[in-house]
Amino acid sequence: MLSIAVRAMAVSLTVATLVVPLWARQPQQVQKTRIVFLGTGAPPPLPDRSGPATAIVVNDTAYLIDLGAGVVRRANEAFLTKHINALEPTKLRVAFLTHLHSDHTVGYPDLIFTPWTIGRRVPLDVYGPRGIKAMTEHLLEAYRVDIDTRTNAMGIQHDFPDGHKVNAHEVTAGVVYRDANVTVTAFPTKHAMESYGYRFDTADRSIVISGDTNPTPETIAACRGCDVLIHEVLRPGRTPSEVGKRFADNYHTSIDQLTELARHAKPGLLIIYHQGATDLEGLFDEFRAKYSGPFVISRDLDVF
Ligand SMILES: [Zn+2]
Ligand SMILES: [Zn+2]
Repeated sequence: MLSIAVRAMAVSLTVATLVVPLWARQPQQVQKTRIVFLGTGAPPPLPDRSGPATAIVVNDTAYLIDLGAGVVRRANEAFLTKHINALEPTKLRVAFLTHLHSDHTVGYPDLIFTPWTIGRRVPLDVYGPRGIKAMTEHLLEAYRVDIDTRTNAMGIQHDFPDGHKVNAHEVTAGVVYRDANVTVTAFPTKHAMESYGYRFDTADRSIVISGDTNPTPETIAACRGCDVLIHEVLRPGRTPSEVGKRFADNYHTSIDQLTELARHAKPGLLIIYHQGATDLEGLFDEFRAKYSGPFVISRDLDVF
């Protein structure tokens, strides 16, 4: 008998192949700015869907949004199999966190330490809500023995002792980051804690990513005809608990709510991510019945 995890993976793989609309999978015009899904899952540890992590790649630089489980390995997979050089792990240097739930942050120590151990020489810049500084300090303290051992006179990282350091920035709504490639604007979302979505404006694309949230007018305002809206959806299981239902009603987005939001936001393409459900075929059918705009359900390592 197959284990639940294996069966879930098999179903998910089969269904993912079936449900993806052909028009969204056909070769598209090559975009200068690419969106690479490093993890499209939710807390359940499905082998084919890592924890939430997305990369926006512009001119050979990657900007990560959320750091779910498996983020560095998926980045390396995208580098090795899709030849996206910006995702070679030692090049990962900038990340934005939508909120501090564990499924979005358990890959944070991975991002701090793994690229350092293989050669990253410069500090990370990480942007997130209030609490990101304390989380960063605590993680570095938790790994104190590792850091001390790697940087002492005999340490293998002795000659590049800055590669695990982090400049942590606590954001508020508004422009939080700008460089030659991109302007990043944070907007407040509605989740169980302080949380933000982000809009990325590059030379050729506008991309909005929701993180975990109840539908909000701020998300609609951030998009307003944007090229791509990446949004979560929660399709409850057959028998949600009362607590689960209350949490979903307050802090996540149902299919009905997302279709309504997308009708107002009018993205060129809606990409659904952070799926809690394994029944992607059912999710796709239900969504298609209620929304006529272009949409796709993302899978790990999809590139748009
Ligand atoms: Zn969350
Ligand atoms: Zn989440």
